Amino acid sequence: MNRTAIVYDVFNLRHTLEGHPENFRRLKHAMELLADQGVLDNLVNVASTPAPPEAILSVHTPQYLERLQSIASRGGGHLDADTYVNNDSYEAALRSAGGLLNLLDAVMWKQADNGLALVRPPGHHARAHNGMGFCLFANVAVAARWAQKQHGVHRVLVVDFDVHHGNGTQEIFYHDPSVLFFSAHQFPYYPGTGAATELGGEMAYGSTINVPMPPHVGDQGYLEAFQRILGPMARRFRPELILLSAGFDAHWMDPLASMALSIEGYAALVQELMGLADELCGGRLVCVLEGGYHLQVLAHAISTTFQVLRGAPNPISDPFGPAPGTVRNVHGLLDQIQALHGIRGKTHYSLPSHWLDWGDEFGI
Ligand SMILES: [Zn+2]
Repeated sequence: MNRTAIVYDVFNLRHTLEGHPENFRRLKHAMELLADQGVLDNLVNVASTPAPPEAILSVHTPQYLERLQSIASRGGGHLDADTYVNNDSYEAALRSAGGLLNLLDAVMWKQADNGLALVRPPGHHARAHNGMGFCLFANVAVAARWAQKQHGVHRVLVVDFDVHHGNGTQEIFYHDPSVLFFSAHQFPYYPGTGAATELGGEMAYGSTINVPMPPHVGDQGYLEAFQRILGPMARRFRPELILLSAGFDAHWMDPLASMALSIEGYAALVQELMGLADELCGGRLVCVLEGGYHLQVLAHAISTTFQVLRGAPNPISDPFGPAPGTVRNVHGLLDQIQALHGIRGKTHYSLPSHWLDWGDEFGI
């Protein structure tokens, strides 16, 4: 069994707004279920601390930090129509990123094999100069930079299976070939970005991979996207660490979106990532919570994720079953994305020779 780590900070419950889908109950329900099921007993508990300002500043502008701190210290407000700030939000955002950094440290120092940071506010929509879409600091981007600066990791793969496109993460690393970003998401949908043709800037062309899916894609479609697109691209890139933006709002019951994943489907995706991590980077897989707005689904999806990460024999906790009705297939879409990224064939990994060493050309 793996030593799987959790980080959780009760302070993060203070960032909340009644009536908003991204509220304190998301974490509270999940923690209650983990305790009831005895899952917590088998996890490595990592302490939460606020992220050091220099870690946040590796991704965000000083002006944004000051503005967020000032809004919080005045009692709160909104960054946009969806994104609230209350008087504890600045500290909660620091702890959300900081908890993830501590969990990352634990994995890099081999105190744990893998882990999931149960933190909020979430992060993948946050941009360098502003938060948006319920997100204040770009947690996963801060963690990728931290891995590079503090742990000497050169190449980081960031995978995002939240139903929304991780526009913040994409934008932060768009011109950086040392971070490979893969997102599968509902499209067109909030926040509007994430077309397949967004491939990275000139010096990082091909290091952004988007799989923009129509509604009602389910377990099979997602798994195929991981096997036909993510797998070959990850093997080409050879990451030393895999980070996962784990949003559970692509579940068929989620109130905010229209995808058809089940908890079993999510488990298969996490297993796929664990296989890639074992093959490519010593099993180092660090996950962080993003979205997921059906409280019971979210709690069970989180519990299942921990059990999968541990390698438990009966990992699935799913009272809801598979999506009803017909799910959409994505064969044609994946054919096109394979062509865009120069991936040939359905499952084999022999690539044009000029693609093989593109990472080395940039000295990474
Ligand atoms: Zn989302």
